[in-house]
Amino acid sequence: MLDITVTRSDHLKQKPADEGSLGFGRLFTDHMFLMDYEAGRGWHSARVVPYDNFPMDPAAMVFHYGQAIFEGMKCYRRSDGGLQLFRPRDNFARMSRSAARMGMPVLDEETALEGLRQLILLDQDWVPHRDGTSLYIRPTMISMDVGLGVHASKTYRFFIILSPVGAYYKEGLKPVSIYVEDEYVRAVRGGVGFTKCAGNYAASILAGDVAEKKGFSQVLWLDGVEQRYVEEVGSMNMMFAYGQKIVTPRLNGSILPGITRDSVLTLARQLGYETEEGRLDVHEIFADAKAGRLTEAFGTGTAAVISPVGTLALKDEKVVLGDGGIGPIAQKLYDTLTGIQYGRLPDQNNWILPL
Ligand SMILES: *Cc1c(COP(=O)(O)O)cnc(C)c1O
Repeated sequence: MLDITVTRSDHLKQKPADEGSLGFGRLFTDHMFLMDYEAGRGWHSARVVPYDNFPMDPAAMVFHYGQAIFEGMKCYRRSDGGLQLFRPRDNFARMSRSAARMGMPVLDEETALEGLRQLILLDQDWVPHRDGTSLYIRPTMISMDVGLGVHASKTYRFFIILSPVGAYYKEGLKPVSIYVEDEYVRAVRGGVGFTKCAGNYAASILAGDVAEKKGFSQVLWLDGVEQRYVEEVGSMNMMFAYGQKIVTPRLNGSILPGITRDSVLTLARQLGYETEEGRLDVHEIFADAKAGRLTEAFGTGTAAVISPVGTLALKDEKVVLGDGGIGPIAQKLYDTLTGIQYGRLPDQNNWILPL
């Protein structure tokens, strides 16, 4: 593990007075963590410094060829005031897998975790207290070589920034309406769908925008070849409940292996539900929903944890799931997982890292 130097900011920002209106990713804390990579030398110069701009050459490769990957996780405040992270090692391990696919260097995961720990401890007063709030953590890696020749960059920067975020649901879980995207695709097998790369988001923004204008809050992506099998929602994995059985698309290389997805599958089995990973035909999903066999659908991801789906639409067809409200399985999984994350329930799976 690298030594980490710490430079404290000498002019701390005003912290938000109202934790009820934090929103998502709008405010940033007083410090950030940085480290740099150079081929032949490895990761070096790990440091916590005041949050600030950093200069970038306009010819830096990330702007032109897009080697950029990121992660998203949260630090939670327990009711006794203590702080805890949820499965942070899994996020850094996933970042290394993203990096390997993008021709970027794998992370020095121990230094990244220690850097995160020191950064949060320094900015700990920024972790909000109100129920449902948290400190969102955004690790990012970008290519830094200057020049327009297409090659794997020899220099990279890794950084972590922190943002206090509000409760995703202010008045309890709320069902969303989702449009099944039938024109564009997000990722194909053999591509980069399983990585958390910036380009996957760039490719999805137009479709999200169109769906929003039609009154839907998210897009459900289908497979890139037949446009028939369910993949995932913008930044969430998808799960469907048939009575006491939960089914979800298997990790086929083009969907993101969500840590919430894995946690929900594990908890579901521990709570006595049957789980199945497979290939889900969207037309069967619609038929099952109409026939009442499919009783619930919900997304899983760090930001919302669980997001119940009230209606699904494909072209002119619309189906309501269950009674269009919050299904009992979604509610149970939400209560259990957030209970563990906020330290209200015991952590039987060793997911929590107290700070
Ligand atoms: C981050 C992300 C998810 C959710 O992953 P979690 O680890 O559960 O937060 C799902 N799909 C995509 C495309 C993502 O980028």
